[in-house]
Amino acid sequence: MSKKIALITGANKGIGFETAKQLGQKGITVIVTARNAANGNAAVTDLQKEGVDAEFLQLDVTNAADIQHTFDYINNKYGKLDILVNNAGIQVEDGDWGTNTAATVTAEALHKTFETNFFSVVLLTNKLLPLLKKSDAGRIVNLSSILGSQALHSNPNSPIYASKLFAYDASKTALNAYTIHLAAALAGTSVKVNSAHPGWVKTDLGSDAAPMEVVDGAKTSVALALLDADGPSGKYIHAGQELPW
Ligand code: NAP
Repeated sequence: MSKKIALITGANKGIGFETAKQLGQKGITVIVTARNAANGNAAVTDLQKEGVDAEFLQLDVTNAADIQHTFDYINNKYGKLDILVNNAGIQVEDGDWGTNTAATVTAEALHKTFETNFFSVVLLTNKLLPLLKKSDAGRIVNLSSILGSQALHSNPNSPIYASKLFAYDASKTALNAYTIHLAAALAGTSVKVNSAHPGWVKTDLGSDAAPMEVVDGAKTSVALALLDADGPSGKYIHAGQELPW
């Protein structure tokens, strides 16, 4: 059996870097992508020091030419892709809950957030789908968030009820819709796609206030990337448990 190949977006730091490390430690070749070449190459050097078979590919997920280049590169070098972790994400609101709401959100915040967290995921994934279909067990992991849950946002008793950052939350809800629709479109193939909530994780995005260490924050992504043939598709999962959409 040929070696598994995984591509992780936004893998220069945070949950993406840790996901690359944990997949690499399982003997998978990891294509570390990042929009900044210096940061991406530094991440690859760190991974190689840990014995991981890693290589860098520059990919700004919002750049159409980068997406085409990514397809061409993997197609020419490997002819298939086993794992795609759509990890890159942004949260552009200032985090001052209550000041950047559905009533006050700017067009810029909405466009910027949806471009990275939603449109680019759809465009990159659809471009790479022919390569994922060439794998024996293609796996797509979409890094969503519990903040994308409509069920929890509409429930005053839920733990996230007060945490309303409209652009970010709505972008993850849209991403969840893509997961559901794509799983339906892939029914009958060997490719599975799921949404992951990593937990509230200590990263630049999650902040130092987060309770979860990054080593644990990558575990949901890694588990979904390694699902066996009996595993779920079209689900929204944190630490092995389904979340309500
Ligand atoms: P992070 O440390 O801020 O890392 C985000 C990564 O995304 C960085 O590598 C960043 O690159 C990259 N990125 C942003 N825009 C990009 C673009 N246009 N092209 C390529 N890469 C881009 O955040 P994180 O906490 O690890 O988040 C990873 C994912 O988990 C995100 O999708 C986030 O929404 C999700 N998530 C995180 C938490 C949490 O508590 N941390 C909770 C729920 C969901 P640069 O270094 O160049 O900026």
